[in-house]
Amino acid sequence: MEYRYTGIILNKRNVGETDRIYTIYTLEGGKVRSLAKGVRKSQAKLAASLENITLTDITIIKSRGLGKITGSIVENNFSELKKDCDALLETFAGLSIFEKLVDFENPDAKVFSLLKNYLEVVDFIARSGNVEKQLLLRLGFVVKLLDLLGYSMEVDHCVACGKKISEKFPCFSSQHGGALCEDCAKDNAQCSLSVRVNVIKMLRLFLKNNLQALIKIKATQEDCDSVRLVVDDFVRWNS
Ligand SMILES: [Zn+2]
Repeated sequence: MEYRYTGIILNKRNVGETDRIYTIYTLEGGKVRSLAKGVRKSQAKLAASLENITLTDITIIKSRGLGKITGSIVENNFSELKKDCDALLETFAGLSIFEKLVDFENPDAKVFSLLKNYLEVVDFIARSGNVEKQLLLRLGFVVKLLDLLGYSMEVDHCVACGKKISEKFPCFSSQHGGALCEDCAKDNAQCSLSVRVNVIKMLRLFLKNNLQALIKIKATQEDCDSVRLVVDDFVRWNS
């Protein structure tokens, strides 16, 4: 049976003499894996339209198992992003977390749209040379993705007692699922992370705004590094 998908190439892996297995996040089928035969032969035309980080209309013939990719028409290859080494590294880091968190064959139009939008905004930033925004954007993407997948972070009220979180003594606990007030942080010292003042604010902004708007957030490298510790820890707890 022939399937047509709109998909984003996440990953590829060489198998056999000339074949590759691709991991693709598709609008219609969620995360899928499929084989492209002979794609590493020098005259194979299909390879160019199946590069990582490419939005493509893809055709897969499948009865059972992996099936076979028979066609691919590129819609967007995010060329500015691919010219920018820093952007590329951050994007691969974002996609690797995405691949870990998202299940196979569980389509979700909102998740697809977030991923597509993330790549479009990274591409846009790379064009304008705004390198320092790449980390911020990747962190925003991961927090929004976690939220869509049901791993929500509570950042307005203390996850242990429900008290409104003071911005003066911010603490975060992945084990509890969000921010802790000063008192509860003391009671849970072994599993809470004391973070920079701006971290809780930034997490709130990530959750309330679309990715495009995150470019405007003014954050120092230290703030971004502190958010990264929280996000990495939260991903570890939930994956
Ligand atoms: Zn509390």
